[in-house]
Amino acid sequence: MKIKVDRKVCAGHALCAAKAPDVYTLDDDGYCNSDGQTVPAGKDEQARFGAAYCPERAITLFDESGKEVR
Ligand code: SF4
Repeated sequence: MKIKVDRKVCAGHALCAAKAPDVYTLDDDGYCNSDGQTVPAGKDEQARFGAAYCPERAITLFDESGKEVR
């Protein structure tokens, strides 16, 4: 599963990393810097959970075929 983060939309709430610390990381200013990364094996559910908590809906997840999964 691949992570797309719209950096123009991300407002630095840091909820993604708080709810899914194995999946999302933040830069020094508290903005999500996981754009383009692959979800670690076995962490798909955590990735969805963290994305769902993003108040800005800045995170989109894609499967291996490039299909949006949320
Ligand atoms: S929860 Fe959303 S707005 Fe907040 S840092 Fe994560 S991606 Fe950005």
